[in-house]
Amino acid sequence: MAQSSTTTPLRDLRSRVQKRADAAADTRPRVTLSFYRYVQIPDPESFKTRLLDKWQAFGCLGRVYVAQEGINAQMSVPTEYWPEFDAWVQHQPELTGIPYKMAVEEGELPSFFKLMIKVKDKIVADGLDDSSFDVTDTGAYLTAAQMNEYVTDPDAIVVDMRNNYESEVGHFESALTPDVVTFKDELQKTPELLRVHKNKKIALYCTGGIRCEKASAWLKHNGFSDVRHLKGGIIDYAHQVKEQGLENKFRGKNFVFDERLGERVGEEIISTCHLCKSQKSDTHYHCQNQICHTLFIGCAGCVEKKKGYCSFVCRQIDRLPASTKKTVARHYNLKIRKRRPFQKTRPQR
Ligand SMILES: [Zn+2]
Ligand SMILES: [Zn+2]
Repeated sequence: MAQSSTTTPLRDLRSRVQKRADAAADTRPRVTLSFYRYVQIPDPESFKTRLLDKWQAFGCLGRVYVAQEGINAQMSVPTEYWPEFDAWVQHQPELTGIPYKMAVEEGELPSFFKLMIKVKDKIVADGLDDSSFDVTDTGAYLTAAQMNEYVTDPDAIVVDMRNNYESEVGHFESALTPDVVTFKDELQKTPELLRVHKNKKIALYCTGGIRCEKASAWLKHNGFSDVRHLKGGIIDYAHQVKEQGLENKFRGKNFVFDERLGERVGEEIISTCHLCKSQKSDTHYHCQNQICHTLFIGCAGCVEKKKGYCSFVCRQIDRLPASTKKTVARHYNLKIRKRRPFQKTRPQR
């Protein structure tokens, strides 16, 4: 027993490293995109099998959540298979007409290293009891041009429905950015935070729009009458700004939940390195110590100096023999996390 508990993380780590290597060797041009839909899927398991069979054949990578309430997908598709992929997706009765949000920029490496499709209770972890309110009573959509008006309107309040590590590197001018680390927390706190703005028009936004579907219905249920949300989120906003030549009122970077960890929307860097706390940076890293894996913002100098670890302690722990590593790490990890504003993060969109 003791043996397996010390070897499992290493085996995980090796397969992760292998997957990265495989993905890096696959240099085919790819398209990164995301899409979601709230739609009744009575049998998510068989739906998952249907997706997996086809998408594996196309060489798709990504992270996909399927639930009885719908689908939430972030994917990377080889460009050569794009026409087939698109045709197949649009041919599925659950997905016909589903809009895609195309990535603003592609990274050098694929944005995902494997294809993972998971059946979940919900497509976004929101901690809400959906039977307690009308989830279909969502707010009206805002276009990018309308969002720009909201940003400068004194009678409006713009609310960032994402977590603190996302809004730290980029957000709309004048937006309210709640200091939370999960969407569940955000939903709990927002009605209270907005109490003083009760008579204002409310505009919500998130990465790709999915969180605002639930959040707008939740706020309306909590007594806010004029709630709207940015259609397609920041990803679509960036496209509309470019295509329509609008003024960009989003400052900084859009955090995304794939290996790229961010897409540049504006040129400005609005955040600071967590390690030296002095250099401007908006590049996120996961600590090299796989047991820690903390998400942090690092400047080039610090990342080089600390060799990709979030701290000296993490670097030391990573050098220990595997047999002692886990015990020591468990002890230090608690200390490390207490000191950090950011918790270990899991994709949450
Ligand atoms: Zn630094
Ligand atoms: Zn660390």
